Amino acid sequence: MGFIVKCVLILLVFSFIVYVMKAITRLSAHLRATVKDVKHIRSQGGSRQARVSADMVRCISCGAFVSASDAVTLSSRNRAQVFCSHECLNAHAKSA
Ligand SMILES: [Zn+2]
Repeated sequence: MGFIVKCVLILLVFSFIVYVMKAITRLSAHLRATVKDVKHIRSQGGSRQARVSADMVRCISCGAFVSASDAVTLSSRNRAQVFCSHECLNAHAKSA
């Protein structure tokens, strides 16, 4: 009788260990998936930032590329002229 109880106990302990191992495996897989998700989100954010920085305009006076938010835009008649700075705008206005 004691032998059977010992066998059942060993089986229970063994199945518990297997259960814990499976749980750890599942948890690490879940963590890896989470890390992958975070990296994916970060890469998406990075590409979005790259797209924003790719939104560059060229100064028609000196040819320098500036971001659209920093550019000085001069709308004359029906066309817009983009400059990197007010100095370039003035230089272009003098030369024109
Ligand atoms: Zn310029």
